[in-house]
Amino acid sequence: MTPTNNTNTSEQLFETAKTLLPGGVSSPVRAIKPYPFYVESASGAYLNTADGTTLLDCCLGYGPLLLGHAHPTIQEAISKQLEKGWLYGTPTDLEIELAKLITRDYNSIDMVRFCSSGSEATMAALRLARGYTNKSDIVKVEGGFHGAHDSVLIKAGSGATTMGVPDSAGVIPDVAAHTHSVAYNDAEALESLLSKQPDIAAYIIEPIMGNIGPILPEIGYLMDVREITAAHDVLLIFDEVITGYRIGRSGAQGYYGVRPDLTTLGKIVGGGLPIGVCGGKREIMECIAPQGPVYNAGTFNGHPLSMAGGIATLNWIFEHETMYSTLAGHTRMIANTIADISDQPGTFVNIGSMFKYFFRAEAPRNYREAKECNTDAFSKLYTHMNRNGIFIPPSQFETNFLSFAHSTQDIEKICMEYETSLKQGSRV
Ligand SMILES: *Cc1c(COP(=O)(O)O)cnc(C)c1O
Repeated sequence: MTPTNNTNTSEQLFETAKTLLPGGVSSPVRAIKPYPFYVESASGAYLNTADGTTLLDCCLGYGPLLLGHAHPTIQEAISKQLEKGWLYGTPTDLEIELAKLITRDYNSIDMVRFCSSGSEATMAALRLARGYTNKSDIVKVEGGFHGAHDSVLIKAGSGATTMGVPDSAGVIPDVAAHTHSVAYNDAEALESLLSKQPDIAAYIIEPIMGNIGPILPEIGYLMDVREITAAHDVLLIFDEVITGYRIGRSGAQGYYGVRPDLTTLGKIVGGGLPIGVCGGKREIMECIAPQGPVYNAGTFNGHPLSMAGGIATLNWIFEHETMYSTLAGHTRMIANTIADISDQPGTFVNIGSMFKYFFRAEAPRNYREAKECNTDAFSKLYTHMNRNGIFIPPSQFETNFLSFAHSTQDIEKICMEYETSLKQGSRV
């Protein structure tokens, strides 16, 4: 059968999908133009598509798959749990086990509430902050992404930025009015806002901007943020849904030595299964129902499969912690290759296993600077990579990732394709 007659090729599948799913997809960033590729299976660092191609994956489910696809240790843990049933509507010891591992790794976390996604985690954390402080408003970073719920879909980044609609229809102005934004890396803007606004319950921030980024914190910025929020009795929420277990076992807060009041985790913590975690100081966490008055609940909260996947992942990470420096070495290899290209059109940013080529002369320090990137040039890079067997997230405003499954040869391949594409780009 020739590919054009095959109704199971990506192009054909997308035609059908568009009649059943808005935009043909279940989440906007997946709507790659002209049509996304459909995946049939994945293993290690590779995706196998419906079109019979194999792609080296630098997207990794947008972050969760630190160990790569179908890692046997996690597979075994999930299979074992599957045999015992996978939903009980009662507590399991798996929740205790995973909570022990998280509180071991994060000094700032004494207790956790498990939920099913990062969005739910930030929603829970923000309600908790409001309930605990008895204040109404929140501050977020301009362009910062914390999931798809109303109070954070204000100047949201990620998919929303790429689509050119920073705010969502359907978010009522009354809700939006309670969310303030400040530029990332601008401690003075935060100080000035908090001095003027007495109603702020929390400042929610990705310590490293992973969505849009990586955009790195300038020296001292996170320390300043910690001091300023404390001085104004405003809770500091680190959204480490991407950076948790990615920048090391203790996330960005361990890396930079800054202790937030609340932390949200997700992605890696479930080993690739749906999860969200809202955690923090005991005194604050005890305000969550049924212990306290701040409501949070969910049929799938603490889902046994996610707990099993998470426990296996965190145990594996604990036993292989030196792999973090291997990963950082891998992104440095790419950085060094790119640094050698003369006359290049942009800047490479890397931290740990997160990296990104920005089509802008200097690394962006905030959302506004990131928006100055040449997205047409990025599209060319994306197309080149995809045609040559590498999947990077299809947006200038998404972080690229490496996993423990990426081999040195895989990294050499990535280096080579960046080099070819960027050299071609600078000739145009
Ligand atoms: C992905 C992400 C979320 C949302 O998590 P979901 O599991 O997709 O709901 C929240 N915050 C950050 C920083 C994220 O990267």
